[in-house]
Amino acid sequence: MQSAANWDFLKKPITWFFDLDDTLAWNCVVYNRPILDFVEYLAVIFKNRVPSPGTIIRMQEDIDAGLGKQNDPRTGKPYGFSKQRFPDAIALTYKALCEMGFGTYNEKIAEECREIGRRAFDPANYHKLGLVENAGALLRALRVRGDRIVIVTKGDQEVQNEKIEAYHLQKAVDAVYVVDHKDGSTYVDILIDQHRKGVRPNVSVEPWETVVVGNSFASDIVPALKCGMHAIFIPCPTWKAECMDTSKIDTEERMRVREVKEIAEIFGMIR
Ligand SMILES: [Mg+2]
Repeated sequence: MQSAANWDFLKKPITWFFDLDDTLAWNCVVYNRPILDFVEYLAVIFKNRVPSPGTIIRMQEDIDAGLGKQNDPRTGKPYGFSKQRFPDAIALTYKALCEMGFGTYNEKIAEECREIGRRAFDPANYHKLGLVENAGALLRALRVRGDRIVIVTKGDQEVQNEKIEAYHLQKAVDAVYVVDHKDGSTYVDILIDQHRKGVRPNVSVEPWETVVVGNSFASDIVPALKCGMHAIFIPCPTWKAECMDTSKIDTEERMRVREVKEIAEIFGMIR
């Protein structure tokens, strides 16, 4: 065990920052169904003359990733995490395939493709899925102990709010912040806001007595460690790029992060 003393603050109620997507609720899976529907739809419109599913999905992923930094022609603003990005990426994949000679582009079909993409945001998905196993029980247990629970989630305001509502999280936590990026100052600003609002005044808002829980090492965990917070990393098998890359942190920061598989050790510390 590396320096149990660092984690002694867990013995009393503390502030927790939970990520939402693929931490408290599965997210990647809601995009898989529309992508598979799109692959099947292409076979219909191109009369079975289609590339392999792997090729189509890779194209869609590349186009989707590229769109993030491009402007949405409707708003003139970057797509970022907007609700339009995924449906537009599907329509643009159809367009790219037409340009490769698989068919003749038709705007009506492009709109059908967008409609398939919009299925990812159907709140019925969230109702069906529910939270990750035991996530609700964990939040309730922390609530009973008197901890301050905050959800910090990156994404489209409307989409994330629909998820919070569908998962009934508003009443299970003290606050929800939907942000467009996460860095050290995002986290510190939230702590200051919580202090200002007087939410759970007896619970510390010091960064070093706050724990961030998330599945993205780069965007949830590294910023937390850089601003002096502690962190619990939940490696998520849904995204191949997410692994515990300790080359980005120094030895002192390594002491302030644990993987969720070490949870028994963490509970041992707070007993
Ligand atoms: Mg996440």
